[in-house]
Amino acid sequence: MNFKKCLRCGCFFASEDSVCPSCQTKDEIDKNSIRNYLANNDTPQNAESLAFQSGVSIKNINRFMETKEFSPLKNSFK
Ligand SMILES: [Zn+2]
Repeated sequence: MNFKKCLRCGCFFASEDSVCPSCQTKDEIDKNSIRNYLANNDTPQNAESLAFQSGVSIKNINRFMETKEFSPLKNSFK
């Protein structure tokens, strides 16, 4: 079993995921905030603006943009 450091809270946990189980829930809430924002608004010009508008931290947005679902955002940002 590998121990990994959670990218969100920094705790150590045993899993193949990049965030710990309690942060996975928070990640889902944040992703839903972004999905909801993007579904109802034009895509902001940059990640800072999206963070401000959606209430999700820039750090987490940058992390989500490494995932398949949110990677297209990178092309939308100037
Ligand atoms: Zn965590």
